Amino acid sequence: MIFEPLDFIARLVALVLMPRVNLTRFHGVFAPNSKHRALVTPAKQGKGNKPKAPDDWQDKTRVERRAAMSWAQRLKRVFNIDIETCQACGGTVRIIACIEDPVIVEKILIHLDKKDRSAQASRKDTF
Ligand SMILES: [Zn+2]
Repeated sequence: MIFEPLDFIARLVALVLMPRVNLTRFHGVFAPNSKHRALVTPAKQGKGNKPKAPDDWQDKTRVERRAAMSWAQRLKRVFNIDIETCQACGGTVRIIACIEDPVIVEKILIHLDKKDRSAQASRKDTF
């Protein structure tokens, strides 16, 4: 099958997803605005259930705690990337900041790259 360029682009564009739109849509009692959603979902989240105070962690069930996982915990669970354990000593690592600004991320990566190169150069000097 051979397309004209514009037809090909039109077919490709139809496959591109809208940004920030969920691919899974729930209806009925599972719909986000359903007043019965909290009764039927494992995490008991929904319109009929008010969010709890952060200090009642002990009162939550296993499923409720899982719903409140941090991104570090999700990273470990989904991709098996453990950033909460020190690679050198196996101790617990505490997350003190999350840097999302691309400019600052690039500055840090450039700095680390320079530092790595100078370390490699000094290793070469010793041999
Ligand atoms: Zn350590």
